[in-house]
Amino acid sequence: MQLEDLYSEIILDHTRDPRNKRAPGPTGIRVHHHNDLCGDDITLNLHVTDGTVTDLSFEGQGCSISQASASMMTQAVKGLTTSQAQALVVGVRDMMHGKPVPEGVGDIRALEGVKRFPVRIKCALLSWMALAEALGRADQSEGSGNPS
Ligand code: ZN
Repeated sequence: MQLEDLYSEIILDHTRDPRNKRAPGPTGIRVHHHNDLCGDDITLNLHVTDGTVTDLSFEGQGCSISQASASMMTQAVKGLTTSQAQALVVGVRDMMHGKPVPEGVGDIRALEGVKRFPVRIKCALLSWMALAEALGRADQSEGSGNPS
């Protein structure tokens, strides 16, 4: 089996059986992003406690690249600190633009092949850009020095 086949197998697996895909609960930081080019739609629901991502789920529809990317992301980010998660967002974005695959990204490396199809890069990065926004909001509310 070629590496490329393996990668698409990973993407297919996450498309068929998305992880952490569920309706958001009443709490958490919710961010919705839409990709007009492809019609992909992602809503993230992020929970951060003491600077650590305690839960991340998503809802959405769209092409398999966008949905598989969101599924892989929720798995990878849970348990990271918000700054580790931000670093991962940057690493994945750089990977999609031709830089080396970041260390320890697991299944996410399957997305690297997508960079050969420039119109699909936005599909792969949609959930990651939503995550960057959600993390920014989490840092703001945690950094306010006014915990409830
Ligand atoms: Zn798409």
